[in-house]
Amino acid sequence: MKKRIVVAGAGHGGLVAAYYLALAGYNVTVYERQAEGTLGYEQSDSVHLDGFEEAGIPVPEKYRVKRTPLSFIIPGTDLPPLTQGVHDDSYNVEIDRKALYDLLLGLAEEAGATVLYGVTVEGPIMLGSRVAGIRTSSGCVYADLVIDACGLSSPVRKNLPEFTLTDKEAARPDMLTAYRAYFDRVPDTEDPAQKYKVYLIPGENAGLMWTIVHPDNVDVLIGAFSDLTREQIEEKLSYLRSVNPQLGQTLLKGGDCHLIPLRQPMAVLVADGYAAIGDAAFMTIPIKGSGVGYSMRAGKILAKCVIEDEQGLFNRETLWSYQCAFFDEVGFDGGLLAIIKNLIPVITQEDIEYVFSAGILSPEMLQKFGNEEGMAKVLSSLTFGNARDLAKKVVGHQRLRRIILSTAKNLARYAMVRQNLREKYESRNVEKWAASYNRFFANLSEPKTDDADMDDPVSLEPAE
Ligand SMILES: Cc1cc2nc3c(=O)[nH]c(=O)nc-3n(C[C@H](O)[C@H](O)[C@H](O)COP(=O)(O)OP(=O)(O)OC[C@H]3O[C@@H](n4cnc5c(N)ncnc54)[C@H](O)[C@@H]3O)c2cc1C
Repeated sequence: MKKRIVVAGAGHGGLVAAYYLALAGYNVTVYERQAEGTLGYEQSDSVHLDGFEEAGIPVPEKYRVKRTPLSFIIPGTDLPPLTQGVHDDSYNVEIDRKALYDLLLGLAEEAGATVLYGVTVEGPIMLGSRVAGIRTSSGCVYADLVIDACGLSSPVRKNLPEFTLTDKEAARPDMLTAYRAYFDRVPDTEDPAQKYKVYLIPGENAGLMWTIVHPDNVDVLIGAFSDLTREQIEEKLSYLRSVNPQLGQTLLKGGDCHLIPLRQPMAVLVADGYAAIGDAAFMTIPIKGSGVGYSMRAGKILAKCVIEDEQGLFNRETLWSYQCAFFDEVGFDGGLLAIIKNLIPVITQEDIEYVFSAGILSPEMLQKFGNEEGMAKVLSSLTFGNARDLAKKVVGHQRLRRIILSTAKNLARYAMVRQNLREKYESRNVEKWAASYNRFFANLSEPKTDDADMDDPVSLEPAE
């Protein structure tokens, strides 16, 4: 008889894994706390087409759309928006979150997975060093493998023993509070020159906002690296209305705040009988918080690893190929982008103004940065040589010059940390990997902003 696999929470990556594993004949059950038909937020998601293609999830034609160029704006300045160039053949998937859930749940159930709604997962069941199942609101459930797709606050991950090397929590600066809402479009207003505007808020109260003007509504996101009060949201909405005559007063849908992890993926994704996926393992693109694509890709990678474990051991050793393949395909890129995300509190409004006004970021460069792979490619090719060339462009701006050079240094250090992830599982090596990776990012998230310290803003012991 095929082994029993439990998916804790109907996260996107967990559902993709459930689909492939059920197709392969495993006995798969998903435990989801929400009631049937109520999953997802009232919003449309934008996911790079690659996320679906790499995960092998078919996308109905109606959801494929040409990418809209983003225009970057710094509130409170007179600088003109900087608009990204976009390749003609660049497509996104724009899909309502509920439709996305229908698609993934439909595939998993048709393949033979069972989805049980209204069941809250409370934590793992440990038998010795092994995760042997989950505690739920309707009792204990034992399984050969638990896939943790419970999202950012997963009670499974949070209650794993220390020796698993998994993280309990994401630090506050590594989480974005995101308010998302759709408002009416004021009648008879002209289309704006830029449809999709992203407002960058650097410094102490760092965050970002966007407005996307559609024919019959305006999509608004307000994000902050701290909690958002109702007053702060109203204040920001007033600002957005002042610069977007299309943005009406009537809330059509959404209007809630949720937390998104904006950080590098968790260092160790697996334990005996356990694999974390999606937001439960912090698998978002750290500079923008999109996590559907990475999670779905991880779902396919995990299913392949499980199927290849023909003896059904599902222990740290056999699940390690999931860990390595995930990091190779997307996780290391996520780490690169986390290095850039950690600059957000360091960069000041004045720095960004300088970058915009000095023409350092061209539309072509922004086009390369338009998708995470492009940006990761640019970053991984940033050597000291070309960082020095870039630094020359800001020769009149000592602070920025130091930030660029220190970022190049951090990218080089990250390349060393990467080497600690070995393909073969060996507990000593895994401990070394987790320690060096976690230490690297812990040091980054407390950057020194004092000018005098900027020459060496991150102190890091080199990876062995
Ligand atoms: C406002 C907002 C906008 C976003 N926009 C985008 C976007 O445009 N594109 C994009 O790619 N990503 C976007 N994201 C990120 C994206 O939602 C996640 O990264 C992605 O969904 C992966 O998360 P997940 O599916 O693993 O977890 P989640 O989406 O958190 O799903 C976890 C599931 O587990 C269930 N669950 C949680 N706890 C329990 C429990 N104790 N017991 C049982 N079930 C439980 C939940 O009900 C849920 O169904 C956005 C996120 C937010 C908050």
